[in-house]
Amino acid sequence: MRIECPHCDGPINVGDRDAGTTYRCGACGRSFVVPLDIAQTGQPHQLDSFPVASLVLLHYITAGLFSIIYLNLLHDKMPRLRRNDPSATWAVGLCFVPGVNLVWFFFTYHRLCVRINEQRRFNGLPETAPTSLSVAVALLTLFGSLTYLFPAPGLVVLSVLGLIVMPVFAALVQNSINDLVEHPTVPAVGC
Ligand SMILES: [Zn+2]
Repeated sequence: MRIECPHCDGPINVGDRDAGTTYRCGACGRSFVVPLDIAQTGQPHQLDSFPVASLVLLHYITAGLFSIIYLNLLHDKMPRLRRNDPSATWAVGLCFVPGVNLVWFFFTYHRLCVRINEQRRFNGLPETAPTSLSVAVALLTLFGSLTYLFPAPGLVVLSVLGLIVMPVFAALVQNSINDLVEHPTVPAVGC
């Protein structure tokens, strides 16, 4: 799509993936950050509603496996607005690489909430995806992984994570998606 250089007002063609990145104007040679909200005129999201109760039930039935895979697959349901927005394949895959996954959980769940909130903002809705809780999920996973060093506290942490924090996180994420899907997209302005 076409935007104007903030320095020289010259026309510039950018894609969705340039949003939030630094761009150097070919005409005046000065750099600027491409605004995030150009994505309003880009591809719409493909998020679907899903019953929160079923999601939580499936989480318990599969001992947490379902929510890990389900939540990470959501990355493919939204337009990529940054070059490091992960694909679903990467997002799910890295969750199962020992060691790497402990770092990855901090990134993938936080970015997921950021991306959902972005879609909500584009539709004029408040940002309700649980960004802060995503950090708590990753922290508890990290502490829980230390069970071989501290078996008793490690198991307590893992129980709190698996039985309470993770299902609550998944439910809040799905809730923010269901609410978004129920609201029709605001028509894009301009361009
Ligand atoms: Zn310029």
